[in-house]
Amino acid sequence: MAYAAPDAFEYAMNCHCSQCRRATGAAFKPFAGIRRRDFRITQGESSIFLFGSQDGPHDARCSVCGSLLYSVVREGAYVHVPMGTLVDEPSIRPSIHIFVGSKAPWYAITDTLPQFETFPER
Ligand SMILES: [Zn+2]
Repeated sequence: MAYAAPDAFEYAMNCHCSQCRRATGAAFKPFAGIRRRDFRITQGESSIFLFGSQDGPHDARCSVCGSLLYSVVREGAYVHVPMGTLVDEPSIRPSIHIFVGSKAPWYAITDTLPQFETFPER
């Protein structure tokens, strides 16, 4: 399946939580957040394999290729897309590391972006 989103991401982060590590099979998941109303499924809606509930928070994978394509979060108002699934280059870059308290012990963060044990206070 495929999705389309304007280059209107409001934030981007690298998440080191165990759920993101497991979902991606990587040390962390770089993701970008966009308002759900700006996000569209453009192709293969019938091949969405959904984890969670349709009405609540959920992760969507493509049942053909298995890729994690997006997550519906924050009371359904936002969509988080794993940045590795973007075809075009977005203007935004991950600005912080979150859930560093549960990061993989075998992975060392080598950049200078701010790190947070869980989520930054607002
Ligand atoms: Zn996470």
